Amino acid sequence: MSIQENLQTILSQIPENVQLVAVSKTKPNEDILEAYNAGQRIFGENKIQEMADKYDALPKDIEWHMIGHVQTNKVKYMAPFVSLIHGVDSFKLLNEINKQAQKNNRVVNCLLQIKIAEEDSKFGLSVEDAKALLESHELKTLNHIKITGLMGMATFTDDEEQLSSEFNKLQSAFNLFKNMNNSNIQMTVLSMGMSGDFKIAIDRGSNMIRVGSSIFGERIY
Ligand SMILES: *Cc1c(COP(=O)(O)O)cnc(C)c1O
Repeated sequence: MSIQENLQTILSQIPENVQLVAVSKTKPNEDILEAYNAGQRIFGENKIQEMADKYDALPKDIEWHMIGHVQTNKVKYMAPFVSLIHGVDSFKLLNEINKQAQKNNRVVNCLLQIKIAEEDSKFGLSVEDAKALLESHELKTLNHIKITGLMGMATFTDDEEQLSSEFNKLQSAFNLFKNMNNSNIQMTVLSMGMSGDFKIAIDRGSNMIRVGSSIFGERIY
């Protein structure tokens, strides 16, 4: 199946309120252009340098989402153009994003990454720490970021009950936070679900899925 056919298949399986982030990490610009020509505009990458190179080479109406773990010292390379940063898991990182966004006269949208998987390897804040961050006075001083929702990654498993319970945890956190809106919090995005689990994630309230291999094929590292 072509990239275009894969995209159509996925779009036909998701409700209209769910946004599709096409995860193009490791994939060449030709593949991204094929998806672009089929109408896709949101692409996700997990390495800042790779995303910046692709931004330079590809059409400027693409929305670039950073879905990977972000190192503070690299924020400056994406601050001019990134449209949503999914993996924010500390105040220190938010503070740096704010600083770099200010230099570029921008407000950069961010999601807080919540740890929902049992596996130790996954990054993210606990629900308690996210709540403390959202309620903190310091957050109100950051005028160049906006927290627009939450992101999570479930355990890599095909145990549907486990996936469902992990996504459920994120949905509960989202419901807990979604009325905390103020000048730089506007909770609207719930980013969860990948190629193997996006249907379960949507059942648990996801409105943004991040799908790579089901669109572009397996990744070769
Ligand atoms: C790679 C990646 C995805 C996409 O994974 P697939 O299984 O290929 O759909 C989604 N989210 C994050 C954070 C990723 O790193």
